[in-house]
Amino acid sequence: MRLSRFHLRTTKETPADAEIVSHQLMLRAGMVRKLASGLYTWSPLGLRVLRKVEAVVREEMNRAGAIELLMPTIQPRELWEETGRWQKFGPQLLKIRDRKEAEFCYSPTAEEAITDFARQELASYKQLPVNFYQIQTKFRDEIRPRFGVMRAREFLMKDAYSFHLGDEGLVAEYNNMHAAYTRIFTRLGLDFRAVLADSGAIGGDASQEFHVLADSGEDAIAFSTGSDYAANLETAQAALPAARIAASEAMRKVDTPTQKTCEEVAALLGIELARTAKSIAVMTGAGFVLALVRGDHTVNEIKLGKVEGLADYRMATEAEILEHLGSEPGFLGPINAKKTIRVVADREVAALADFVVGANEAGFHIAGVNWGRDLPEPETVADLRNVVAGDRAQDGGELRIVRGIEVGHVFQLGRKYAEAMGATVLDENGKATVLSMGCYGIGVSRIVAAAIEQNHDAAGIIWPEPMAPWTVAICTINPKGDAAVNEAAQQLFDTLQAAGIDAVLDDRGLRPGQMFADIELIGIPHRVVISERGLAAGTFEYRARRASEAENLGREELLAKLIR
Ligand code: ATP
Ligand code: MG
Repeated sequence: MRLSRFHLRTTKETPADAEIVSHQLMLRAGMVRKLASGLYTWSPLGLRVLRKVEAVVREEMNRAGAIELLMPTIQPRELWEETGRWQKFGPQLLKIRDRKEAEFCYSPTAEEAITDFARQELASYKQLPVNFYQIQTKFRDEIRPRFGVMRAREFLMKDAYSFHLGDEGLVAEYNNMHAAYTRIFTRLGLDFRAVLADSGAIGGDASQEFHVLADSGEDAIAFSTGSDYAANLETAQAALPAARIAASEAMRKVDTPTQKTCEEVAALLGIELARTAKSIAVMTGAGFVLALVRGDHTVNEIKLGKVEGLADYRMATEAEILEHLGSEPGFLGPINAKKTIRVVADREVAALADFVVGANEAGFHIAGVNWGRDLPEPETVADLRNVVAGDRAQDGGELRIVRGIEVGHVFQLGRKYAEAMGATVLDENGKATVLSMGCYGIGVSRIVAAAIEQNHDAAGIIWPEPMAPWTVAICTINPKGDAAVNEAAQQLFDTLQAAGIDAVLDDRGLRPGQMFADIELIGIPHRVVISERGLAAGTFEYRARRASEAENLGREELLAKLIR
C-alpha cells in the first residue's frame, strides 16, 4: 500500500469532547468519525485495525470448532415476545416499524434468532454439540454512549451460541470457549484477566467476563492475593465476618440535629464509621423492606436483588418511607418503625454489637444497639455490600481492586431460551429433549479502543503487532526526487510483501518531522527510513515504535528484525 493513494487524515489537536485517551487518539489518528451520538464511521485506517481484530477472533473461533453463520440485524417483535424480552430488554432495545406497521427491533444480541434457527435445524442429538457464531453489528440504545467506540450504540460483536443435550456438554464447551478467549486476548497482546461475573438467576460460576486491565475501565474488579480468585465487583465476595462480640453498651437515644449521614453521625459521636449502620428503604411487590449495610460500606444493587423476595425491588419513595417508618430520610433505622417491616441485614451488620442506627425521628439516632436485645435478630442475613480494597478474601488473602474494560463474556444459559421457544431434539431414546445452551460474546470494536488504553505514549498509539493497520512503515526522504531512493523503498516493500509482512510505503513527500509524527500517532510497530544519505552509507534507519532511538542497519540486519 502506498500512503499517497490511501486516505489518511490526522490532526494534532486533541478533540475537546473526547474524555479518554483511546477516544482522543482514535479521533486524532482519523480512525473513526462520529456520525451521531454512539454512531461512528470507521475510516479506511480504522477499518484495517478492526478487520485485524476480527481475523484473530474468527481464526480462534474456527480453531475451537465453532461454525460461522450470519443472522439479520433486524428481527421481528413476535420472536422477542416468545421469551418476553420485547418488554424485558427495556429501553436499550431499538424498536422499528416497517411500511406495513409491523414491529421489529435492531438486534442487541441474538439468543432468540439463534434459538429459532436451532429449533428449525436441529432435530437429533446426533447433531450435537454444535456452536454457531457470527461477527455482526449490534445496536443498543445505551443510556450514556461515551468514550467513542468503547461504549457506542452501534458496535461490532462476535456472538456465539452452543447447543447441547445436557449440562455436561455445556460445561465442556464453556471451558473450550474460555480457552479460546484466552488464546484470542493473548494473541492480541492484551493484558487481561478472566473474572467471575454476575450470572443472574443461574448462579455458581456459570459466567465469566474477560477484562482488559486499564485505569479508565468502567468496571471494578476484585482479586485476591491468596489465590487466582478474581470477580467483578458486581459479584465479588469477601470472607465471612468474625463472630459477633457480646453487648457492652446500653441502648440510648442520641441528639443528631443535622447529622444525616453515617459519616456525620460517627464524627459527632466520636466512633468508628464501621459501627454505624446505613438503612436503605426499598419497596417490593410483597411490601416495604429495610436493608442494612455498615456505614463504611456501600450496598450492591445486584446482590440486593438476589435476596429472596427482592427481585422486583425499587427504592422506596419519601411517602412510603414516612408511612412505614414515620420519619424523613437521614434518620432511618430498624427500631421504632411505624409498621411491621422486613429487615434484611448485610452479614457485616448482623455481626455488629453496640452499633448506631437512625431513630426514625428527625434529629435523632440510637447508639449502643444490639441484635436480639434491642431489636429482633434480622429476618434475613445476606451479602449485600460491595467489597472494598483491603477486605479479607475467602481464601485468606487480601482483596485488591483494579479497573477493567469488559471485552468478552462467556455464559452458561442452560435451558431458559430453548424452553421458552420450544427448541428440542430427540435424544438416544427418541424422546424430545429441551436443548441446553451457552452463549459467548466478544466486543470486537471495543477491543480496538481497549488496546489503545493499554498501549500508547505521548506520541500516540502503540499497536500490538497483530492489530496494527500495517506492521512496517517505509518512509522515504527524497527532497530531490532521487530515483534510487524510490527504487530502494519499492524493493524493500516488495521483499516484505513476499515474506507476508503488511507494510506501507509513505511516499507522501512530507517533511520528515510531519511524516514521523503521523507514523507514530497511528502506531505502526516498525519504521524504516530510506534516504539518499543512508543509501550512500549502505544502511537503513530503523526504529521500533517502543524504542527511544533509531539505529542504522545493513539490509540483512534489517530484514532479520522485520521478518521473523
Ligand atoms: P457492558 O456491561 O459493558 O454494558 P454487557 O455486559 O451488556 O456490556 P454483553 O451483553 O456481555 O455486554 O455483550 C458482549 C460484549 O459486547 C461485551 O463483553 C462488550 O465487550 C461488548 N459490548 C457490549 N456493549 C457494548 C457497547 N455499547 N459498545 C461496544 N461494545 C459493547
Ligand atoms: Mg457482559
